[in-house]
Amino acid sequence: MSERIGPGGTVGILGAGQLGRMLAIAAARMGLKARLYAPEADPPAADVAPVIRGDWDDADALRRFAASVDVVTLEFENVPVAAVETLAPLVSVRPGARALAVAQDRLDEKQFLNAAGVGTAGFAPVDDADSLRAALAALGLPAILKTRRMGYDGKGQARIDRPDQAEAALAAMDGQPAILEAVALFAREISVVAARGADGGFAAYDPAENIHRGGILRRSAAPAAIDAETAARAQGIARAILDALDYVGVMGVELFHMPDGRLLANEIAPRVHNTGHWTIEACAVDQFAQHVRAVCLWPLGDPARHADAVMENLIGDEALGWARIAAEPGAALHLYGKAEARPGRKMGHVTRLSPLGKG
Ligand code: ATP
Ligand code: MG
Repeated sequence: MSERIGPGGTVGILGAGQLGRMLAIAAARMGLKARLYAPEADPPAADVAPVIRGDWDDADALRRFAASVDVVTLEFENVPVAAVETLAPLVSVRPGARALAVAQDRLDEKQFLNAAGVGTAGFAPVDDADSLRAALAALGLPAILKTRRMGYDGKGQARIDRPDQAEAALAAMDGQPAILEAVALFAREISVVAARGADGGFAAYDPAENIHRGGILRRSAAPAAIDAETAARAQGIARAILDALDYVGVMGVELFHMPDGRLLANEIAPRVHNTGHWTIEACAVDQFAQHVRAVCLWPLGDPARHADAVMENLIGDEALGWARIAAEPGAALHLYGKAEARPGRKMGHVTRLSPLGKG
């Protein structure tokens, strides 16, 4: 089960959103085939590769999928761990169930990070009004209450700036287990997108600086406005996390850079990451190709950046401006093939390059 998968082989991908679509395109460039598995009808990846439609708990469909691919990876961190456990005896799954399980539960994730020697904002579990009261007393305000599981793009989060907002925040969790986090008063948000091979090899892209609005990533710029020591420290944190998980593939590590210089981990994403999309234009081997290389046991590519880059997400209606962006010299436009531009939905992105060091 640990043979290199060469040209002509098939990469199985769990999930078929825009990340699966871009992974499938990268696999095709490498002479590999991609085949995806997802419950939705007509997902974004269906335009570029076959998508097997099946529910996450359909063990028969998962077994058929395993039999039709040479390795399985994922583009979506909320794939139920049980689905991966169904697949794992039949086909190599990279990254494996452990990384997925850790990333799916914000409490387990923060405890794992601290145990790996990586600092985080203060946190405490919250299951009811009593534990929320205790957590608020321990952490102070402002704080953010988040569901432990299934959050993305800032969903399932409620900020508490004043004591009288606590009750509504708890009600917003809808009875689900939650975690209270102290708000980190960061100088900036950065992320490291990094790859680890099955042989323990490691390759990190330069840290990107990220701007979120309303919990959704708006913009990532590489390089981040940090010194070389901080950038190396951020990449070292990513390496410690990937090593601790014996991880294979690309991961996104989100960090808060504090005014006193500390780097606190926010969360990890066991997959290619929105803050690494700039690598498509600014690196010889982008994060999607790098992930396919890692899970197929190819040599990792050089993560060096040959330009400065700014990536902007096109969210909801912003994608209606595609023709204007397409007419802009040097703008690299990516659209994900989503029919409906619902508010807050990531429809595409645009990357603009500038010469190294002049961004
Ligand atoms: P995404 O899918 O975009 O990664 P998510 O739903 O998993 O989002 P988080 O990454 O936890 O959520 O939070 C989204 C954003 O909200 C963060 O990037 C950051 O800007 C802000 N945020 C979350 N938690 C904190 C915190 N403890 N302190 C300060 N800001 C925070
Ligand atoms: Mg996040």
